[in-house]
Amino acid sequence: MNTGVFLLSEARGLSRDLLGGKGYGLAEMAQAGLPVPPALIITTEACRRFLREGAVPGLWEEVRAKLSALEGLTGKRFGHGEGATPPLLVSVRSGAPVSMPGMMDTILNLGLNLEGVQALARATGNPRFAWDAFRRLLAMYGEVVLGEKAEVFEEKLSALKERRGVASDAELSPEDLEELSFQYLRHLEARGTPFPMDPWDQLQGAILAVFRSWQNPRARTYRRIYGIPEDLGTAVVVQAMVFGNLGEDSGTGVGFTRNPATGERGLYGEYLRNAQGEDVVAGIRTPEPLERLLDYAPELYRELQEVAALLERHFRDMQDFEFTVERGKLYLLQTRSGKRTAQAAVRIAVEMAKEGLITREEAVLRVEANALPGLLRPAVDRDRAPEPILKGLPASPGAAVGHAVFSNEAAERYAAQGLPVILVRPETTPEDITGMYLSRGILTARGGLTSHAAVVARGLGVPAVVGAEALRVYPEEGRAQVGGLEFKEGEVLTIDGSTGEVYLGAVALVASAGEALLQELLAWAEPHRRLGVRANADTPEDAQRARAFGAEGIGLCRTEHMFFHEERIPWVRRLILARTPEEEAEALERLFAFQKQDFKEILKAMDGLPVTVRLLDPPLHEFLPPLPDLEGKARAGDEEAQALLERAKALHEQNPMLGFRGVRLLLLRPAIFRMQLRALLEAAKELKEEGFDPRPEVMVPLVADPKEVERAKALAEELFQEYGPIPFGTMIETPRAALLAAEIAPLVDFFSFGTNDLTQMTFGLSRDDAGKFLPRYVEEGLFPFDPTERLDEKGVGRLLRLAVEEGRRANPRLKLGLCGEHGGEARSVQFVADLLDYTSASPFRVLTARLAAAQAGMRASRTVPG
Ligand code: PEP
Ligand code: MG
Repeated sequence: MNTGVFLLSEARGLSRDLLGGKGYGLAEMAQAGLPVPPALIITTEACRRFLREGAVPGLWEEVRAKLSALEGLTGKRFGHGEGATPPLLVSVRSGAPVSMPGMMDTILNLGLNLEGVQALARATGNPRFAWDAFRRLLAMYGEVVLGEKAEVFEEKLSALKERRGVASDAELSPEDLEELSFQYLRHLEARGTPFPMDPWDQLQGAILAVFRSWQNPRARTYRRIYGIPEDLGTAVVVQAMVFGNLGEDSGTGVGFTRNPATGERGLYGEYLRNAQGEDVVAGIRTPEPLERLLDYAPELYRELQEVAALLERHFRDMQDFEFTVERGKLYLLQTRSGKRTAQAAVRIAVEMAKEGLITREEAVLRVEANALPGLLRPAVDRDRAPEPILKGLPASPGAAVGHAVFSNEAAERYAAQGLPVILVRPETTPEDITGMYLSRGILTARGGLTSHAAVVARGLGVPAVVGAEALRVYPEEGRAQVGGLEFKEGEVLTIDGSTGEVYLGAVALVASAGEALLQELLAWAEPHRRLGVRANADTPEDAQRARAFGAEGIGLCRTEHMFFHEERIPWVRRLILARTPEEEAEALERLFAFQKQDFKEILKAMDGLPVTVRLLDPPLHEFLPPLPDLEGKARAGDEEAQALLERAKALHEQNPMLGFRGVRLLLLRPAIFRMQLRALLEAAKELKEEGFDPRPEVMVPLVADPKEVERAKALAEELFQEYGPIPFGTMIETPRAALLAAEIAPLVDFFSFGTNDLTQMTFGLSRDDAGKFLPRYVEEGLFPFDPTERLDEKGVGRLLRLAVEEGRRANPRLKLGLCGEHGGEARSVQFVADLLDYTSASPFRVLTARLAAAQAGMRASRTVPG
């Protein structure tokens, strides 16, 4: 029975889930006739079994058998050289079914020992290379399998260079590297974890270490951030080594079949002469662009172009591939679908469809709808920008302004205060993932466009500038230097990930342009969309912007924001303080005028489209100054402050979120209700007289009982008699309203699900305070995601479904919408796509909602799922 070990040639037809992304890519490439060094793959199934049971029966026999097949294919013996034939050495790599770059560990040159070094030196005629390979193996094995810290090996290397008075590794002699190898061996021996000289022992140790690395904290963090299931396990790839560091006709590189930052067509990538693959990814040396090959190795460049074309035809997607050139011969070591910016994702999808590589439908389904706001990421306003202090490589587009931080801890400190940060590092490693995740932008001194920092930033959709060589970063001292200029932690920087420029201070930003391709993609998507998309907007500007993004109306116009204007708030306060009906009437009269004007402008911006206005929602005390301010002023003899203070104390609530607000306030202070609704009706009436086509709708918030709706409806009808009726609806945002949907539905024209409140009340958590524990809940796997961001289908979704079904049954003409923040989150939109009539999203997320809804429509109508 096969326990899960396959040669590349045997892996045909096996799934990515089983072979892992890396193994799958290698097997596919081998089948497509691309030059791939022979390899064996241990499946994810073996890993899962090992993690579950602590052992995999029969595994080692199987590995041994396949290893001798590798020996046959390469004509070399594992760990043993003979005459001019070097020993077979292997790399051992992890490969999960989904890409987890930099998260798992790799060991190269495995199979070497003291005898093998001699054989390798003999066979290559290059003792320096042989000892270099050995000391690298010792350091990697020491770290990954034997658990020593990487710095220990680096320190010994640095100390040796210092003693020899040389600056780079390349200047060390073969004897130096031999000495270093022995230092490593002695060190590992002394700490009780001797390096196994037997190649077979090395291999077993490495395979088990890869299995275990699935559980390491970095891998867990990555899975959490990207929502990757915990139980996939990783495959292990054991592959014959090829060497990019055998001289100037050798090298290693990373290629993209299209530009991952812009999506532009054509080979793109970087190459490092005379180096091993890890040197590129780690960003230790800055590689040169692939086009430079045209100068000194044009044949190789053309070969890479052919490889790129073949990869795209085979995988039908943009590929990110790693290759090594050993003495002029090209080998492919890895390929996967390349990470890309939102901008590149759209361009690649649209252009591939036009090239006939994929269908239009596939193009639409390939773009992650949640990433679209990144397309609209701002850029530096070039007309107003000062001279940049620094220029690096433009690794991830968009501009960002934030406080400079030099560590994860500092990033957390600033982020906890709600301050935007720019993470500044010499280079990044997987250890920096927390800081990167919290940052608005990333800046590094070293590394190329395919360095860890660049790849992760693009994945996160965060602007990044990398390889800014003039930058010196001193993380321990919390400062950095550019020439004579210094900046410290907390100082504000602006980075432009589209140009690579860095500025001191906050530079003005402008909205980005160039959405033509996105419009094209959306035009292909739209016919598949059934769900309507409206916007949450409460200013004419927002309404216009939303309309430009394709919003089909306003699903939520919050009226309270209109009261906070400088010239209005005094009248709101008078309303709160009013002691007589006359005083109240005067305040309301003023507010009516403001409100009517607001409504007119918004209705005009959305002419011909529905505008749902929600009547006042917050409790009145939110319009008063904070208590301590009032107390201070009252003590100083301010009479108005004294009066406000008394009212504020009377209105004070322990728990305003569940207090005297929403429909409760509107019913008990009906004059406010009437003022707002009259302003809306009057605005519409005037617009109609001016020849416009206003479509107002009105809704009440926070309803929990049908009686409340009945009373509100009666109030509204008084005005409808005068002006004619408009659609009247209620928000469904308390669990009780959802449960009583059947009784509420006959009273209204529409329901609008307020999933912000519905989520906080269903979970019993406050959206204002949940930041204290929710992130940790998600981190520890207690919640699979943050339910204030993405709709909780199981609980909140169940209430929603129930209200939809029972509401519709009780009132077949009932219209159904959603207007919480979830209305602009792709997966939530897909969940409601065939439940509701429309969703409503903040203006910048209207595009996300449109695309997600279309994708849902496509998936629903597909005969073959996928
Ligand atoms: C909601 O609760 O989902 C909602 C849209 O209202 P608000 O966010 O204003 O409470
Ligand atoms: Mg609400």
